[in-house]
Amino acid sequence: MASNLHVKKGDKVEIISGKDKKKTGKVLVAYPKTGKVLVEGVNLIKKHTKGTQKNPQGGIIEKEAAFDASNVLLYCPACKRGVRYGQKIDGDKKTRVCKKCGKELE
Ligand SMILES: [Zn+2]
Repeated sequence: MASNLHVKKGDKVEIISGKDKKKTGKVLVAYPKTGKVLVEGVNLIKKHTKGTQKNPQGGIIEKEAAFDASNVLLYCPACKRGVRYGQKIDGDKKTRVCKKCGKELE
C-alpha cells in the first residue's frame, strides 16, 4: 500500500536531523512505499567505481543515498527554514501553505 509522503520530487526541503542537519536541497526522488527520499547533495556516501574510459583507474565517487523522509521538512522561502504546512482547498485545487506565515508553497 502506497502512502503519500509530505514531500515530493522537485520540492526544496530542509534536513532537520542527522549529520546533514540544516542543509537544504531538492528532492530528487521520493519513495512513498518505503517512506524515503533522495535529496540533492544530502546524505552523500562514498562509492567505489570501476574504471571507465574517462577515468580508467576507477576510484571513489560521492553519491546521494536515500534516507527517511521524516528527517526533512518542506522549505519555506519566506521563513527561510523547513516548516510544517497545511492545505488550502480551493475548488478541486489543493495548495500547500506554510503553517507559520501562510505563504503558498507550490
Ligand atoms: Zn513560511
